[in-house]
Amino acid sequence: MTNQQLAEFPASDRLEQLRSGLTAVERRIEAACAAAGRPRSEVTLIVVTKTYPASDTRLLASLGVREVAENRDQDAAPKAAECADLPLTWHFVGQLQTNKVRSVVRYAHHVHSVDRTRLVTALADAVAKAERPPLGCLVQVALDKEKEAGAAGEGRAGVAPDDVLALAERIADTPGLRLDGVMTVAPLAGTLAADPAAAFARLAEISTAVRAAHPAATMVSAGMSGDLEQAIAAGATHVRVGTAVLGARSRLG
Ligand SMILES: *Cc1c(COP(=O)(O)O)cnc(C)c1O
Repeated sequence: MTNQQLAEFPASDRLEQLRSGLTAVERRIEAACAAAGRPRSEVTLIVVTKTYPASDTRLLASLGVREVAENRDQDAAPKAAECADLPLTWHFVGQLQTNKVRSVVRYAHHVHSVDRTRLVTALADAVAKAERPPLGCLVQVALDKEKEAGAAGEGRAGVAPDDVLALAERIADTPGLRLDGVMTVAPLAGTLAADPAAAFARLAEISTAVRAAHPAATMVSAGMSGDLEQAIAAGATHVRVGTAVLGARSRLG
Protein backbone atom coordinates (compact mmCIF):
# COMPACT_ATOMS: atom_id res chain seq x y z
CA MET A 1 0.00 0.00 0.00
CA THR A 2 1.33 3.46 -0.87
CA ASN A 3 1.39 6.49 1.40
CA GLN A 4 -1.28 8.07 -0.77
CA GLN A 5 -3.60 5.09 -0.32
CA LEU A 6 -2.94 5.11 3.38
CA ALA A 7 -3.71 8.80 3.57
CA GLU A 8 -7.06 8.17 1.85
CA PHE A 9 -8.08 5.53 4.37
CA PRO A 10 -11.01 6.56 6.54
CA ALA A 11 -9.49 8.24 9.58
CA SER A 12 -10.88 5.63 11.96
CA ASP A 13 -9.19 2.77 10.06
CA ARG A 14 -5.94 4.68 9.95
CA LEU A 15 -6.22 5.36 13.68
CA GLU A 16 -6.54 1.62 14.28
CA GLN A 17 -3.56 0.88 12.02
CA LEU A 18 -1.44 3.36 13.89
CA ARG A 19 -2.66 2.08 17.23
CA SER A 20 -1.67 -1.47 16.35
CA GLY A 21 1.70 -0.33 14.98
CA LEU A 22 2.39 1.57 18.16
CA THR A 23 1.29 -1.34 20.33
CA ALA A 24 3.59 -3.73 18.47
CA VAL A 25 6.55 -1.37 18.77
CA GLU A 26 5.80 -0.72 22.43
CA ARG A 27 5.87 -4.50 23.04
CA ARG A 28 9.22 -4.78 21.27
CA ILE A 29 10.68 -1.93 23.32
CA GLU A 30 9.37 -3.44 26.57
CA ALA A 31 10.80 -6.85 25.69
CA ALA A 32 14.15 -5.36 24.70
CA CYS A 33 14.34 -3.35 27.93
CA ALA A 34 13.45 -6.44 29.97
CA ALA A 35 16.07 -8.52 28.15
CA ALA A 36 18.68 -5.84 28.80
CA GLY A 37 17.67 -5.41 32.44
CA ARG A 38 16.80 -1.79 31.80
CA PRO A 39 13.73 0.05 33.05
CA ARG A 40 11.31 0.89 30.24
CA SER A 41 11.50 4.53 31.32
CA GLU A 42 15.11 4.75 30.07
CA VAL A 43 14.05 4.46 26.45
CA THR A 44 12.07 7.09 24.58
CA LEU A 45 10.24 6.18 21.38
CA ILE A 46 10.53 8.83 18.68
CA VAL A 47 8.09 8.16 15.84
CA VAL A 48 9.58 9.05 12.45
CA THR A 49 6.67 10.48 10.47
CA LYS A 50 8.60 11.36 7.29
CA THR A 51 6.66 10.95 4.02
CA TYR A 52 3.37 10.63 5.93
CA PRO A 53 0.78 13.40 6.12
CA ALA A 54 0.21 15.78 9.03
CA SER A 55 -3.09 13.98 9.64
CA ASP A 56 -1.08 10.92 10.73
CA THR A 57 0.97 13.05 13.11
CA ARG A 58 -2.30 14.33 14.57
CA LEU A 59 -3.66 10.79 14.99
CA LEU A 60 -0.39 9.68 16.60
CA ALA A 61 -0.63 12.58 19.05
CA SER A 62 -4.16 11.47 19.93
CA LEU A 63 -2.70 8.04 20.73
CA GLY A 64 -0.25 9.57 23.17
CA VAL A 65 2.82 10.04 20.97
CA ARG A 66 4.77 13.10 22.11
CA GLU A 67 8.07 12.76 20.20
CA VAL A 68 8.16 12.88 16.41
CA ALA A 69 10.98 13.07 13.89
CA GLU A 70 11.34 14.32 10.34
CA ASN A 71 14.31 14.26 7.99
CA ARG A 72 13.51 16.88 5.34
CA ASP A 73 12.75 20.49 6.09
CA GLN A 74 10.53 20.87 3.01
CA ASP A 75 8.14 18.30 4.50
CA ALA A 76 8.71 19.01 8.16
CA ALA A 77 8.15 22.77 8.19
CA PRO A 78 4.56 22.72 6.87
CA LYS A 79 3.75 19.64 8.95
CA ALA A 80 5.03 21.26 12.14
CA ALA A 81 3.00 24.39 11.31
CA GLU A 82 -0.16 22.30 10.81
CA CYS A 83 0.49 20.53 14.10
CA ALA A 84 1.52 23.59 16.10
CA ASP A 85 -1.44 23.15 18.48
CA LEU A 86 -0.26 19.65 19.52
CA PRO A 87 2.01 18.96 22.51
CA LEU A 88 4.79 17.49 20.36
CA THR A 89 8.55 17.55 20.58
CA TRP A 90 10.12 17.72 17.10
CA HIS A 91 13.36 15.97 16.27
CA PHE A 92 15.20 16.73 13.05
CA VAL A 93 17.13 13.61 11.98
CA GLY A 94 18.10 14.21 8.35
CA GLN A 95 21.13 15.61 6.65
CA LEU A 96 20.88 19.34 7.13
CA GLN A 97 22.04 21.94 4.63
CA THR A 98 22.94 25.31 6.06
CA ASN A 99 20.36 27.07 3.88
CA LYS A 100 17.59 25.12 5.69
CA VAL A 101 18.78 25.95 9.17
CA ARG A 102 16.72 29.12 9.61
CA SER A 103 13.56 27.16 8.91
CA VAL A 104 14.50 24.16 11.06
CA VAL A 105 15.15 26.22 14.20
CA ARG A 106 11.58 27.52 14.01
CA TYR A 107 10.11 24.13 14.94
CA ALA A 108 12.85 21.68 15.98
CA HIS A 109 13.58 21.01 19.63
CA HIS A 110 16.49 18.67 18.83
CA VAL A 111 18.71 18.23 15.79
CA HIS A 112 20.24 14.73 15.73
CA SER A 113 22.34 15.24 12.63
CA VAL A 114 24.98 17.78 13.59
CA ASP A 115 28.06 16.69 11.68
CA ARG A 116 30.27 19.71 10.94
CA THR A 117 31.51 22.95 12.44
CA ARG A 118 29.92 25.01 9.70
CA LEU A 119 26.52 23.64 10.70
CA VAL A 120 27.16 24.45 14.36
CA THR A 121 27.84 28.06 13.42
CA ALA A 122 24.79 28.28 11.17
CA LEU A 123 22.52 26.77 13.83
CA ALA A 124 23.81 29.17 16.49
CA ASP A 125 23.26 32.19 14.22
CA ALA A 126 19.74 31.05 13.38
CA VAL A 127 18.87 30.38 17.03
CA ALA A 128 20.05 33.87 17.97
CA LYS A 129 17.99 35.46 15.18
CA ALA A 130 14.91 33.41 16.05
CA GLU A 131 15.13 34.43 19.72
CA ARG A 132 14.16 30.94 20.75
CA PRO A 133 15.29 28.74 23.65
CA PRO A 134 18.54 26.78 23.22
CA LEU A 135 18.47 24.09 20.55
CA GLY A 136 19.35 20.53 21.58
CA CYS A 137 22.11 19.12 19.37
CA LEU A 138 23.36 15.58 18.92
CA VAL A 139 26.57 14.74 17.11
CA GLN A 140 25.84 12.28 14.33
CA VAL A 141 28.51 9.60 14.33
CA ALA A 142 29.44 7.81 11.12
CA LEU A 143 30.64 4.46 12.39
CA ASP A 144 31.60 3.44 8.87
CA LYS A 145 34.17 6.22 8.86
CA GLU A 146 36.05 4.30 11.54
CA LYS A 147 39.65 4.03 10.41
CA GLU A 148 39.99 0.34 11.21
CA ALA A 149 36.81 -0.42 9.26
CA GLY A 150 38.65 0.50 6.09
CA ALA A 151 35.55 2.12 4.63
CA ALA A 152 36.56 5.73 4.29
CA GLY A 153 34.71 8.11 2.03
CA GLU A 154 31.29 6.82 1.01
CA GLY A 155 28.73 5.93 3.59
CA ARG A 156 26.44 7.51 6.12
CA ALA A 157 26.45 11.16 7.01
CA GLY A 158 28.15 12.04 10.24
CA VAL A 159 31.58 12.59 11.72
CA ALA A 160 34.23 9.93 12.15
CA PRO A 161 34.44 8.57 15.70
CA ASP A 162 37.79 10.30 16.22
CA ASP A 163 36.25 13.70 15.51
CA VAL A 164 33.19 13.41 17.78
CA LEU A 165 34.73 14.91 20.91
CA ALA A 166 35.98 18.02 19.13
CA LEU A 167 32.60 18.70 17.54
CA ALA A 168 30.84 18.00 20.86
CA GLU A 169 33.13 20.52 22.53
CA ARG A 170 32.33 23.06 19.86
CA ILE A 171 28.58 22.63 20.37
CA ALA A 172 28.92 22.82 24.16
CA ASP A 173 30.89 26.07 23.83
CA THR A 174 28.39 27.70 21.48
CA PRO A 175 25.74 30.02 22.92
CA GLY A 176 22.21 29.07 21.87
CA LEU A 177 23.08 25.39 21.46
CA ARG A 178 22.90 22.61 24.04
CA LEU A 179 24.89 19.41 23.64
CA ASP A 180 22.37 16.61 24.14
CA GLY A 181 24.32 13.53 23.06
CA VAL A 182 25.17 11.34 20.11
CA MET A 183 23.26 9.71 17.29
CA THR A 184 23.97 7.07 14.68
CA VAL A 185 22.40 5.09 11.88
CA ALA A 186 23.74 1.54 11.71
CA PRO A 187 26.42 1.45 8.99
CA LEU A 188 25.67 0.11 5.53
CA ALA A 189 29.32 -0.42 4.70
CA GLY A 190 32.49 -1.42 6.52
CA THR A 191 33.09 -4.17 9.03
CA LEU A 192 30.25 -3.02 11.32
CA ALA A 193 27.60 -3.22 8.59
CA ALA A 194 26.76 -6.86 9.24
CA ASP A 195 26.86 -6.38 12.98
CA PRO A 196 24.51 -3.69 14.33
CA ALA A 197 25.11 -4.87 17.90
CA ALA A 198 28.83 -4.11 17.54
CA ALA A 199 28.03 -0.77 15.90
CA PHE A 200 25.73 0.26 18.74
CA ALA A 201 28.29 -0.91 21.31
CA ARG A 202 30.83 1.36 19.64
CA LEU A 203 28.36 4.25 19.84
CA ALA A 204 27.90 3.53 23.55
CA GLU A 205 31.67 3.81 24.06
CA ILE A 206 31.69 7.11 22.23
CA SER A 207 28.76 8.33 24.34
CA THR A 208 30.66 7.41 27.51
CA ALA A 209 33.63 9.47 26.34
CA VAL A 210 31.39 12.44 25.50
CA ARG A 211 29.62 12.24 28.86
CA ALA A 212 32.93 12.19 30.72
CA ALA A 213 33.44 15.75 29.49
CA HIS A 214 29.75 16.75 29.23
CA PRO A 215 27.68 14.85 31.82
CA ALA A 216 24.38 16.35 30.63
CA ALA A 217 24.82 14.98 27.09
CA THR A 218 22.94 11.79 27.94
CA MET A 219 20.99 11.13 24.74
CA VAL A 220 22.04 8.07 22.75
CA SER A 221 19.86 8.10 19.62
CA ALA A 222 20.11 4.74 17.87
CA GLY A 223 17.90 1.98 16.57
CA MET A 224 15.19 2.02 13.92
CA SER A 225 12.41 -0.41 12.93
CA GLY A 226 14.87 -3.14 11.99
CA ASP A 227 17.37 -2.93 14.80
CA LEU A 228 15.81 -1.28 17.83
CA GLU A 229 16.41 -4.39 20.00
CA GLN A 230 20.17 -4.30 19.42
CA ALA A 231 20.25 -0.57 20.06
CA ILE A 232 18.38 -0.91 23.36
CA ALA A 233 20.66 -3.77 24.39
CA ALA A 234 23.63 -1.46 23.81
CA GLY A 235 22.18 1.41 25.84
CA ALA A 236 20.20 3.57 23.41
CA THR A 237 18.04 6.14 25.18
CA HIS A 238 16.08 7.16 22.07
CA VAL A 239 14.93 4.86 19.28
CA ARG A 240 13.72 6.39 15.99
CA VAL A 241 10.98 4.21 14.52
CA GLY A 242 9.11 4.87 11.28
CA THR A 243 7.88 1.93 9.21
CA ALA A 244 7.10 -0.34 12.16
CA VAL A 245 4.54 2.23 13.33
CA LEU A 246 3.29 3.88 10.12
CA GLY A 247 3.85 1.23 7.44
CA ALA A 248 6.32 0.93 4.57
CA ARG A 249 7.11 4.19 2.81
CA SER A 250 6.43 4.45 -0.92
CA ARG A 251 9.44 6.69 -1.44
CA LEU A 252 12.81 6.73 0.25
CA GLY A 253 12.85 9.07 3.20
C1 LIG B 1 13.74 7.11 8.30
C2 LIG B 1 14.64 7.20 9.47
C3 LIG B 1 14.42 6.41 10.61
C4 LIG B 1 13.29 5.42 10.73
O1 LIG B 1 13.54 4.32 9.93
P1 LIG B 1 12.53 3.07 9.90
O2 LIG B 1 13.35 1.99 9.32
O3 LIG B 1 11.38 3.48 9.05
O4 LIG B 1 12.12 2.80 11.30
C5 LIG B 1 15.30 6.57 11.67
N1 LIG B 1 16.34 7.43 11.61
C6 LIG B 1 16.57 8.20 10.54
C7 LIG B 1 17.74 9.11 10.55
C8 LIG B 1 15.75 8.10 9.43
O5 LIG B 1 15.99 8.85 8.35
